[in-house]
Amino acid sequence: MSTNVFSSHCRFPAMSVKLEHVLKDENLIKNIEEIAKDTALLHGVLMRTKETPNSPEVVSYAPFTLFPTPVPTALFHQALAVQTHFNRLVDRVSQNPAFLEETLASTIKVDNFTARLFNIYKQVQEEHRPQSIVLGLNRSDYMLDHSPDGGTSLKQIEINTIAASFGGLASRTPDVHRHILKVANLPEESNNVLDNNPAAGLARGLAKAWELYGSERAVVMFLVEDVQRNIYDHRFVENELWKRNIPVIRRQFEDVCRSGSLDESRRLFVDGHEIAIVYFRNGYMPQNYTSEESWEARLMMERSLAVKCPDISTHLAGTKKVQQELAQRGVLERFFPDEPETVAQIRATFAGLYTLDMGEEGDKTVAMALANPDQYVLKPQREGGGNNIYGTEICEVLENLKSSTERTAYILMDKIQPVPVQNYLLRPGAPLKLNSCLSELGVFGAYVRKGKDMVFNECVGHLLRTKSSEHADGGVAAGVAVLDNPLLV
Ligand code: ADP
Ligand code: MG
Repeated sequence: MSTNVFSSHCRFPAMSVKLEHVLKDENLIKNIEEIAKDTALLHGVLMRTKETPNSPEVVSYAPFTLFPTPVPTALFHQALAVQTHFNRLVDRVSQNPAFLEETLASTIKVDNFTARLFNIYKQVQEEHRPQSIVLGLNRSDYMLDHSPDGGTSLKQIEINTIAASFGGLASRTPDVHRHILKVANLPEESNNVLDNNPAAGLARGLAKAWELYGSERAVVMFLVEDVQRNIYDHRFVENELWKRNIPVIRRQFEDVCRSGSLDESRRLFVDGHEIAIVYFRNGYMPQNYTSEESWEARLMMERSLAVKCPDISTHLAGTKKVQQELAQRGVLERFFPDEPETVAQIRATFAGLYTLDMGEEGDKTVAMALANPDQYVLKPQREGGGNNIYGTEICEVLENLKSSTERTAYILMDKIQPVPVQNYLLRPGAPLKLNSCLSELGVFGAYVRKGKDMVFNECVGHLLRTKSSEHADGGVAAGVAVLDNPLLV
């Protein structure tokens, strides 16, 4: 593990003694439960129901923790401070065809989804690119790793370069937790829940790119799934754009298939609207592409003059294989040749990441994983939660694949070991129960580049998600994690 100046090794503080008392006061908790849910509804922390995901007639609160979770201030600020560097890193990776090609060469031979994305990438590479404006909206996720010597350090889980969600709802949860803490007679703690407004920051990035596109009539198109349970998260960002008089439409792949077209200057039109920006809130999983037409629609959007958020190269820059390659010795230095401090700051957040490519190094990774499976996570090139492999299942999978090139569809990663924290998870229809929980801190980044000039590069907010420690994997959408806020300590 690196011991450079940037990795703040902190002792994880004991939870506020008062908060611990409150957690055990059953009568108080019962009383707060209803207030908490009502407050979430009042503040717009909403989700549509599983039964009626496409109707606003019946909605509920989005799942959240009853209390915010203590996070050491130094580690929180470390995560915010490194974000603009991650923005530049993602952008530079996306602009380096040799690196992408080399890094993904083994993966695309065995992973059909990544191969299809890569095909689109190659096709647009061969054409003259009509658009020099790049818009990146990403979220870098971390857990706080607790080492046996008692230190705690910030370790990146992954960076999401496509469809990173919950910037909208996370803008509304701080008020909910502050109110709950006051009702629980913890007014001081209430002051330690920070303001947070990623919705506004993501919209600033979108607005900047829209202005640069330079047509008042042109719209921002949110490309969305057919199941729209998390629509209110989007709406907060949409409404920030409307406030600036930037028109927004929501469309699905099939709408683009049905009515999308390019004119002679490759301007993209959908249902008669000129599209300034395609904001992908869909398209990151194989099952999002329900037909060949969906793939054709993706290609058409990539070839168009519209600004893509993300474009296909930035999408590929967010793959787990790229993450693993960036952690190899000397690679970050290639992207930041004159910035040793930037390199150190980024590298301090990297956990151990190991290749499964064919050859001696990959063989070593296999042996390491088989000897100590509980210390690692085996990851395929997938997004959306629930795809990773843990514990004895790692052995089953690797025993099967270890001599075959199919192993190169995966990477291996050190398992981060956070300290569990007690909390109540509020979820529609589920009884309240004190849980041992693990949290994941996300930091939102936004950037806009025009040609060679980075004209916007910001850290625009954060997200804390918490899940019961009995689940190894899975996000909020997968029904495992819930929304939370850091309580700085
Ligand atoms: P996805 O793209 O599916 O979100 P992630 O890499 O974020 O994939 O992993 C999904 C979840 O698995 C994370 O939210 C986290 O809970 C858990 N996880 C992933 N990597 C690790 C790790 N190295 N150590 C511990 N837990 C991990
Ligand atoms: Mg994730």
